[in-house]
Amino acid sequence: MGTSRRVVVIGGVAAGTKAASRVARLDPAAQVMVIEKGAHFSYAGCGLPYYVMDLVRDQKDLLSTPAGVVRDAAFFAKVKNVNVRSRTEALEIDRDRRRVRVRDLAGGEETWVEYDALVIATGARPVVPPIPGIDLANVTPVHTVPEAERIKALVASGGGRNAVIIGGGLIGVEMAEALAARGCRVTMIEMLPQVLNILDWDMAKLVEQHMIAKGVRVLTGVRVTALRGEDQVSAVATDAGELPADLVIVAVGVRPNADLARKAGLAVGDLGGITVDARMRTSDPNIYAAGDCVENTHLITGGPCFVPLGSTANKQGRVAANALCGVEDAFPGVLGSAVCKVFDFCVARTGLTESQAKADGRDVVSVIAPGPDRPHYMPSAKSLLLKLVVDRCTRKLIGAQAVGPGAGDKRIDVAAMAITADMTVDQLAKADLCYAPPFSPAMDNIITAADVARNKLDGVFEGISAREVKEKLDRGDRLVLLDARSPAEFEEMRLPRSVNIPLGALRARHDELNKDAEIVAFCKVSLRGYEAALILKAAGFRNVRVLDGGIAAWPYEKET
Ligand SMILES: Cc1cc2nc3c(=O)[nH]c(=O)nc-3n(C[C@H](O)[C@H](O)[C@H](O)COP(=O)(O)OP(=O)(O)OC[C@H]3O[C@@H](n4cnc5c(N)ncnc54)[C@H](O)[C@@H]3O)c2cc1C
Repeated sequence: MGTSRRVVVIGGVAAGTKAASRVARLDPAAQVMVIEKGAHFSYAGCGLPYYVMDLVRDQKDLLSTPAGVVRDAAFFAKVKNVNVRSRTEALEIDRDRRRVRVRDLAGGEETWVEYDALVIATGARPVVPPIPGIDLANVTPVHTVPEAERIKALVASGGGRNAVIIGGGLIGVEMAEALAARGCRVTMIEMLPQVLNILDWDMAKLVEQHMIAKGVRVLTGVRVTALRGEDQVSAVATDAGELPADLVIVAVGVRPNADLARKAGLAVGDLGGITVDARMRTSDPNIYAAGDCVENTHLITGGPCFVPLGSTANKQGRVAANALCGVEDAFPGVLGSAVCKVFDFCVARTGLTESQAKADGRDVVSVIAPGPDRPHYMPSAKSLLLKLVVDRCTRKLIGAQAVGPGAGDKRIDVAAMAITADMTVDQLAKADLCYAPPFSPAMDNIITAADVARNKLDGVFEGISAREVKEKLDRGDRLVLLDARSPAEFEEMRLPRSVNIPLGALRARHDELNKDAEIVAFCKVSLRGYEAALILKAAGFRNVRVLDGGIAAWPYEKET
């Protein structure tokens, strides 16, 4: 440390400015320069949907420190000792002479900038699907401040009456809420059978139902074939018909911006991201890379993955800076932990989904545990549905998902820590988590879920998924759907073809049921369903299972 090294960073949003600021802190003598082709840098890209929504009213709030100071070039020069060159594009990396060719986008002149160490933090770019009409006006991704600004202005001027969002990923669902809040009629079109592919189908369906309840039209399994209009978009053609549209948000994913690295001969992985080691070093020891432009290692599978998130980009920027300043540090990999708000729902996930785990060849047990996120008597209690994915052999937690208005984020953060610490569900069930009624139940939701998983692993709880039950019903299998709730609850809403024997009456009335029949017991959350199954088993019924998650997790039609 202490040498006057020239550290050049390409890309000035999350990973780039984090790396630059950290280097300047660790090595005050270093000459640190950030090259950013956009006009904005160090902005909160994750806040863009809330800016469109008008929850964040002023653009400056996305660009300022918590103390309200705008992070502009003067701020970086004076406070961080970092020279930021915005509206400047890096065109080429000359590794032999350790220099970067840059173009000033305002004046057009090109110069070479020399470096001793280089950090590539060029992020990712939105995928532009090759659909006819994709270049029409009012068809846009939401990736930058100017794009968000244009959407906001269009909506403010009365546009976006018919807004169509192509893609049901994280950005798509956040934008659905933002545009609906601005009074737009929103349709989401997703090619896959579900929105939010980062969740299992059963959990994603619940999110979809919530979006529909909030007025969003959700079309899954539908492909956009063309965008129509003269200059501006006026309709979206799909394989299921045509929709009017005066605003189209394209949110079909992002790809790593690795062109500069590839052209410079740096190693790039099969997923298109720059290959880095745990210290964020590329195949050239003088060049580091961090953020959305790199490929990550998945902490469970050990394989490569591309998970472009701001949480990761910031940590990696710091690790890259540490490494190039000689500070011992490493970035081990990711679990794909993510959270988003979908109207009143918190939707969060970490690790592997059940379908990912199965595709990876793992024998897993999954549990769905619904319940209030704090004691039911607290007015602030909200419902929450947790799903855990557990390796049957090792009993280790390998994945978790949360959906509902309750506080799912903190449970998923606990799950992420449990997976990181390689914990079994037996250990998780004894975790010393805090409790007081305004915050959580005495047995926290994740502890209850871990106990259900243990019961399942030990054969005490035999569950059946909603999907399996539905398939059986559709096939016309002889199945008794036993609802153990009260008659009043049953009257209000019930599953199709279910019968009602309240839990309290079951010991006296179980002879109304055929002992050889296949019985699926349930209630609202399957706690009474579980008790009912135990009563029936004790009475000699052999083929009884409990509906995973009960009615709360039933993603199909209900009768009211
Ligand atoms: C709408 C939206 C919502 C999001 N919400 C969340 C969220 O809630 N949580 C979360 O974790 N993540 C979220 N993300 C993702 C998060 O914003 C990104 O993961 C993060 O910004 C990545 O940081 P980065 O520095 O790697 O790349 P970027 O932020 O993409 O920055 C890269 C920069 O490099 C510049 N650049 C590229 N090539 C060159 C070049 N040749 N020369 C000069 N400059 C160049 C680009 O102009 C860009 O400004 C969201 C993203 C969006 C768009």
